[in-house]
Amino acid sequence: MAVPKSKISNSRRGQRRSHDALRASVSQECPNCGELKRPHHVCASCGHYDGRDVAEAEA
Ligand SMILES: [Zn+2]
Repeated sequence: MAVPKSKISNSRRGQRRSHDALRASVSQECPNCGELKRPHHVCASCGHYDGRDVAEAEA
């Protein structure tokens, strides 16, 4: 089993984990129906993308 040669200091560990934080998910308003949607994704509620209906709306 690999064994660390020396203890990772609190500072080193913190530096490594500085990139680990999760970021809040972004969302934009759909220009067609006004619902919040994820950028570059088809709107989940009306099925529109790039100003046209791509017919993926369900109910
Ligand atoms: Zn929409």
